[in-house]
Amino acid sequence: MRKVCDSILTCTQERIPLFTKKGYLIKECKTCGHRLTDIADVETHLEQTYSDDYFFEGKEGYTNYLEEKEMLMRSGRKFAKIMSKYTKPGKILDVGCAAGFILKAFEEAGWECYGVEPNDTMASYGRNELNLNIRTGGMETFDADQKFDLINLIEVIGSLYDLDQAMKNVSKLCKQGGFAMVESWDMNSFTAKFYGKNWHEYCPPSVVHWYSDDTLKQLFKYHGFELIAKGRPSKRITLKHGLAIIAENSSPSGLKRKLFRFLSKTMGNVTVPYPPADIKWYLFKKI
Ligand SMILES: [Zn+2]
Repeated sequence: MRKVCDSILTCTQERIPLFTKKGYLIKECKTCGHRLTDIADVETHLEQTYSDDYFFEGKEGYTNYLEEKEMLMRSGRKFAKIMSKYTKPGKILDVGCAAGFILKAFEEAGWECYGVEPNDTMASYGRNELNLNIRTGGMETFDADQKFDLINLIEVIGSLYDLDQAMKNVSKLCKQGGFAMVESWDMNSFTAKFYGKNWHEYCPPSVVHWYSDDTLKQLFKYHGFELIAKGRPSKRITLKHGLAIIAENSSPSGLKRKLFRFLSKTMGNVTVPYPPADIKWYLFKKI
């Protein structure tokens, strides 16, 4: 079994340069196959990447995250339903929980909810409007005086700036026999291979790691988890969010841009199916 490298900050394995996206060189580790890019300034990374612009200005992120509430709650209910097949409700920690909509769905299903989120506007919204226990910060520095039955890493495992440290904390804070639910994009999917460097998920610096089933499994195995189930989410996103992703990655020219703006304005809140081919959920158990 190939060993996953240590912290991305200190990894000394040879990395093959693949291509540059948005000024970031994306590389693949020769030893474990892990695909990553380096972060320029670790100290200010979270603050700069997950500023309010990320959630409200549509740059790589959301045009207005708060409008995604219903969809995220539906997605949360689906995850809570999956979990009900494996365990009864207990304590959950949602990593990168944003405003806490997914967490709120877990609360409805009987879970005792905790969250950690780098953007303070989002975290405050969750605390004040949804009455959730959300701490502002990153998983790399998160600590708690209790352990959790479930740790959610929904669309967040690619964004951890110090993957090794964050995973150590995930492992430390997960109960023996507890679970980690991960939703992640598959770099070996047809969609990813078809688009190559233009694949929407190659969007540094908000995403800095890319996984296949194999490298994700290795990562969790290294930190004491075993894969017990996986599947494809039937995900829907708003048309507005979908168009923002396409525009960001393909720089559409004049006419197309106008059409995008028109659609976004008139039908932006309509939800459309997200092509599920490149996104999957994975359930890991701490052994
Ligand atoms: Zn490696």
